[in-house]
Amino acid sequence: MMRIILATLALAFASFPVLADTTPHEVEAREIYARLIGFRTAADHGQTPAMVAYLTEVLARGGVPMADIATLDRGEARAMIVRVPGRERGRPILFSAHMDVVDARPEEWRRNPFQLIEERGGFYGRGTTDNKAGVAALVSAILRLRAERLQPARDLVFGFVADEETTMETTRLIAKHPWVHDAEFAINTDAGGGLLDDVTGEPLIYLVQGAEKTYATFDLTITNPGGHSSRPRADNAIYQLARALQKVEAYRFPVMANDLTRAYLGAVGRAQDGEVGAALRRFAADPKDAAAADLLSRSPEFVGTTRTTCVATMLEAGHAENALPQTARATVNCRIFPGVPVETVRDALVAAVADPGVRVTTRDNPEASPVSEMRPDVMAAIERAVHRHYPGVPVVPYLESGGTDGKVYRLAGIPTFASSGLFTKPSEMYAHGLDERLPVKSFYEGLDHIYRLAVELGGAKELAAAPPVRLDAGVRAGLAVRRN
Ligand SMILES: [Zn+2]
Repeated sequence: MMRIILATLALAFASFPVLADTTPHEVEAREIYARLIGFRTAADHGQTPAMVAYLTEVLARGGVPMADIATLDRGEARAMIVRVPGRERGRPILFSAHMDVVDARPEEWRRNPFQLIEERGGFYGRGTTDNKAGVAALVSAILRLRAERLQPARDLVFGFVADEETTMETTRLIAKHPWVHDAEFAINTDAGGGLLDDVTGEPLIYLVQGAEKTYATFDLTITNPGGHSSRPRADNAIYQLARALQKVEAYRFPVMANDLTRAYLGAVGRAQDGEVGAALRRFAADPKDAAAADLLSRSPEFVGTTRTTCVATMLEAGHAENALPQTARATVNCRIFPGVPVETVRDALVAAVADPGVRVTTRDNPEASPVSEMRPDVMAAIERAVHRHYPGVPVVPYLESGGTDGKVYRLAGIPTFASSGLFTKPSEMYAHGLDERLPVKSFYEGLDHIYRLAVELGGAKELAAAPPVRLDAGVRAGLAVRRN
């Protein structure tokens, strides 16, 4: 009996390890986080204006003047920028998070995806990691700077994007806004973070995203006069496409490297035993080491960091079971190494296929994604913030194989570093999937991370005589107007 009670007690305490020493800022941020999860900010649900209205109210209550809040509309989506004015002139620093989420169907989840549920040391709900913890961290940092009467040396601007998961149109609007366009650099909360060992939970490495691969999709199309399937022709669109796809499969793009990927692969190699670890270290030291590059190209984890990759993802051909195909089309999705033009990759596919009957067309209008040169001041600030909770963990830049709207800021000329401050286990990454969750401990560490970066990078100092923070009549009137 005693053992059962002890076990129950242990479990009860294990579920709430942080509550004992939670600060008022953390309590407030958790409340905000819970409200944010409640908005179904998926595309087509039109919830970002409601979320912006809620955040405006929270910020106004915290003393942020309405003149320092801007909203930007694109169709149904509403984005927001909040400015924290600096003491001196100087280029602003941008902090970014996105309010929208990939949709979740409540009937498919075990818990309501649009309700924050704390269970077994985790926060569950759509957006808990991607990217509402980031939204909560930005809002919390703004409120805390005000409450502590800290003023940065230069303007800090906080961008709340409304459509990162779809068109990123509001990110483009934010990047062009007069408060933002001149930003010296940006910290994006939507990527970057720490990895914990899946088994032991030990911190392994902290990654700062400094570049993303360019996302581009190509269609390979073959047309043919077709005919009756009882009278097969010598040429057949489906066979022709199959041969073209085998050539795409066999083609290898050239091995590439830059300072950022070498730093990343070297650091991962130092933390890893065996032949992969050795190959990583050798490649980092000398990207011309063909044997090392070959070995890494067989690893799904590292192939994307060493070259452009293209892979067939969809197929469509023929119109009837008893007719010769008139059209055959394959979709090939590519993740292009930074700095390589999209057109170069298309040309490489055309050359690899080597069949003038195969038309290779580019979908949409992919934009090549630049690399942000790592800044020692930013890396040092991130390292200090990470080491407060995880002393000694290597802090390393990396190239993202997926994508975020950091690409939009980089294209607008704002070097962007993604650093969420969140530590997770690789086996517990459920962004976009079922049962998305974030360790409770990581949420609070993420708040601290963003606050520290804002204070340190912004050069914040205590105000000598700050005006009292109070919701005045003007702000209340502004709020009323905005709600309409
Ligand atoms: Zn995201």
